[in-house]
Amino acid sequence: MLKGSKFDFLVVGSGLYGATFAYKAHQAGKSCLVIDKRPQLGGNVYCSPVSVPSPAGKGECVINVHKYGAHIFHTANKAVWDFVNSLVPFNRYTNCPVANYHGELYNLPFNMNTFYQMWGVRTPEEAQARINEQIGNCKSVIGNREPRNLEEQALLLVGRDIYEKLIKEYTEKQWGRPCTELPAFIIRRLPLRFVFDNNYFNDPYQGIPIGGYNLLIDKLLEGAEVKTNCDFFREYKDSWRDLADTLVYTGQLDEYFDFRLGRLDWRTVSFKTRIEDTPNYQGNAVVNYTSRDVPYTRVIEHKHFEMFGQAVYECPKTVVSEEYSTEFKPGMEPYYPVNDERNNALAEQYREMAMKEENVIFGGRLAEYKYYDMDKVIERALSAYV
Ligand code: UDP
Repeated sequence: MLKGSKFDFLVVGSGLYGATFAYKAHQAGKSCLVIDKRPQLGGNVYCSPVSVPSPAGKGECVINVHKYGAHIFHTANKAVWDFVNSLVPFNRYTNCPVANYHGELYNLPFNMNTFYQMWGVRTPEEAQARINEQIGNCKSVIGNREPRNLEEQALLLVGRDIYEKLIKEYTEKQWGRPCTELPAFIIRRLPLRFVFDNNYFNDPYQGIPIGGYNLLIDKLLEGAEVKTNCDFFREYKDSWRDLADTLVYTGQLDEYFDFRLGRLDWRTVSFKTRIEDTPNYQGNAVVNYTSRDVPYTRVIEHKHFEMFGQAVYECPKTVVSEEYSTEFKPGMEPYYPVNDERNNALAEQYREMAMKEENVIFGGRLAEYKYYDMDKVIERALSAYV
């Protein structure tokens, strides 16, 4: 509760980390002021509602546009799943992206459907044999040592055909670096399966909040005081101690320290969003364009996250976003930490400085400079508050 006029916590950033932290704090009877420099709450899970008039007499339908990129919630942690579902029920969306390589379509992640489309193999045994043959060629080059980069890891996982059609050019577009300079772990995010299963994730729990992510954020922030259009660096950096006992900082790690040791690199994405005058544009929420000649990495058709079956056709239009991946420059939105040697070392130095800051908690993708999925962010925020 307020001690004099002071908050227990000033939370900088109303994304999943900040909002979850505020929820826990409120439950423990503590007071929070949550500020965000954007005009709306929710960080990058914010959805921008687009209203589409429905056919005569049926009102309108709302398509929740994932303004800062597609967010598909998935987790293996039942406690996290139960927690988010206790706030807003989640739907049964299952991510099954399709890859388009020069007009050829392949199912993702790499599974029996992909192997059939790639090589015409029909059984797990045939597929395994084909992959072993492909991997064998690469093993003779790499030997038995650990893969040193993403290219080596991908070749050892799936062999050359899949690497060249579905991984290499897409990854280089997404990260702006050759696969030989990227860490192996990035590609280990993708499952490899010998069953006809297009579910992109291995996690047992997956879905999208019914009604969109804004509802989840609103629930998380219910007990907090919130202020939008409020830039921490302009308004509170030097004076926050007068306002709160503890600072919860979810912004960019290097920015907190005035970039004293140099700037961390990020990848950023930008979107070209448009309304299409058709109920069903690409038949799927996510289509990845895996060849270099298409400038965007993927096309998102937002309605498919929340509308299934007949509902797709009851809403006569659709909203699609092309996603472009670019190098971050100051003033842009940071999205993905770049896990190369320089950045990992620099982030570590900043993290050491962060540990020495008294009464400041650093949390989330930006403040920890970690490629977290949403469930991990929630997990971290739930355990940060003790
Ligand atoms: N990836 C790929 N081809 C695809 C999709 C993903 O090569 O069609 C690789 C790419 O290197 C990417 C990584 O797999 O960085 C992880 O993909 P994921 O979809 O998990 O990335 P995110 O959704 O976080 O952008």
